[in-house]
Amino acid sequence: EAMVTVSRVGKTYGRRDNKVAALDDVSVRFPGGRFTAVMGPSGSGKSTLLQCAAGIDRVDSGEVELAGTFLNKLSESALTKLRRDRIGFVFQAFNLVPSLTARQNVALPLMLAGRRPKRRDVDAALDRLGLADRRRHRPGEMSGGQQQRVAIARALVTRPQVLFADEPTGALDSRSSRQVMDLLRELVDQQRQTIVMVTHDPVAASFADEVLFLADGRIAGSLEAPTPELVA
Ligand code: ADP
Ligand code: ADP
Repeated sequence: EAMVTVSRVGKTYGRRDNKVAALDDVSVRFPGGRFTAVMGPSGSGKSTLLQCAAGIDRVDSGEVELAGTFLNKLSESALTKLRRDRIGFVFQAFNLVPSLTARQNVALPLMLAGRRPKRRDVDAALDRLGLADRRRHRPGEMSGGQQQRVAIARALVTRPQVLFADEPTGALDSRSSRQVMDLLRELVDQQRQTIVMVTHDPVAASFADEVLFLADGRIAGSLEAPTPELVA
């Protein structure tokens, strides 16, 4: 069953003679408990699709539905609340707060969602990502792979229905990439976490259940049970 349904979505940037159709009539369903990768050339609309599906960006036309809620019908404040309560987002550049410890970074979304962070929950999120010995470290004191795992712990601490990740291994070496992808795969297999990930990396994409290909703002195809060779 679909966790996220994107129906006939259009999204254009710029105006007048300077228009770019980032998404052109895109329809796709992201099933619950599955790991979907989105691939395609630079500029094909991958980030725009992810941001529209996650309620970070508004669509110009069409609809995005998250488990029964139509995002385009929500007010700004309702959309902000939905993002905080029901969605996790991981970025290529980690986007951690440099002055805060791992624990404090992970506690942040709970505070923003108006929940009182319990140390037990924060530490459980860090432990699950293999960061039990990094709780008091600040981002500058951690490797890229460790920082990205803190960012994933932060994205998951609110127990979101969907985890979106935009090039999560884009800034990592191959060893850290593999560790991050093993963890994402485990989340799907052991906790039925729904994940949608944009990536350029065929090895990262091969951890997904399905790869969706975008070209020029349209769905160009999809592939089940991807291998690095098949998606390269
Ligand atoms: P991808 O993630 O596949 O590289 P994007 O979704 O970032 O593609 O971009 C799709 C198209 O929309 C590109 O032509 C890009 O230049 C354009 N675009 C994306 N974001 C903006 C923006 N904020 N303003 C103007 N154009 C944008
Ligand atoms: P410690 O308190 O063990 O030195 P940190 O340096 O990571 O650990 O935390 C600094 C402060 O951040 C703590 O004193 C505490 O007030 C707050 N903090 C850390 N983790 C949590 C949490 N899970 N929930 C609420 N507050 C926390």
